[in-house]
Amino acid sequence: MPVLPWFTATYTSLISRYLAKKLHHGLLLTGVSGIGKNQLALGLSNTLLCKHPSVDGPCEQCQSCHLRQAGNHPDFHILESEKQLGVDKIREGIAKLSGTAQMGGNKVLLIPKADTMTEAAANALLKTLEEPTNNTFLLLITDSVNKLMPTILSRCERQVLSLPSVSESLNYLKAKGVEDASDALLAAYGYAPLRVEEALSGDDDLSYRHFSDGMQALLAGDANVQAQTLANKWQDNAQQIALWCQQLSHNEYVKRQQETDYKRYAACVEAVKTLQHAGVNKSLVLFGLLKKFQR
Ligand SMILES: [Zn+2]
Repeated sequence: MPVLPWFTATYTSLISRYLAKKLHHGLLLTGVSGIGKNQLALGLSNTLLCKHPSVDGPCEQCQSCHLRQAGNHPDFHILESEKQLGVDKIREGIAKLSGTAQMGGNKVLLIPKADTMTEAAANALLKTLEEPTNNTFLLLITDSVNKLMPTILSRCERQVLSLPSVSESLNYLKAKGVEDASDALLAAYGYAPLRVEEALSGDDDLSYRHFSDGMQALLAGDANVQAQTLANKWQDNAQQIALWCQQLSHNEYVKRQQETDYKRYAACVEAVKTLQHAGVNKSLVLFGLLKKFQR
């Protein structure tokens, strides 16, 4: 798996430190969702497991690499859980780290959603973080670093991953076949390119593209596209639509500094709040909002 272009420097620097035997055994990767933290952690795991790693990453040729490519490296473990990561799962994971590595190299435990650990689970992990078995690396990942216990934080080395630049994200999306990738599209997904990719690859009715087309027509005063039509069509995703409208009017306001855009923006903020209440007539709320965008 190639490393995402915006993480190349981080990846290289982590590997260099590993090769110099200066990489901390407990690494915490933090940053917003949709920027590729998991991919970075997997790339790093692959290098840690490889018998002949170089600064470019794993050799892809050794027995360890072959086992990992086949998806059954005996010294690589991922701890995932639907909602909460309980103490039993953590103990199970730790037990796998207790012996010597079966391949004679490193053992790697990856925890993609470290913030879902229960308090008991986190406490169970603490001892391993404090006194790890030989040749063991724990890679923790989180979108919400403030949900982790301070004791866990203090025993890990934190690697804060930032959002890619707009141009890096646009290049990436275009290479992935998203031809109409734009700043507005990125903004609608918090500038996280993998979130855009995921949203556009899904074949649900609601894609940002549909929304964007609808709004353009509405703003241009297209007689066939009315606020009511869109409100009915989009009511099942009312919250998402209101958030997208909010982003859209925010972008416009920043660009043009027009009062209309500010008023639209304020209406969106209100609508997002209203839509959080159960039993609200979504189509009606959305209609009220979209009317403000109609010419
Ligand atoms: Zn290898």
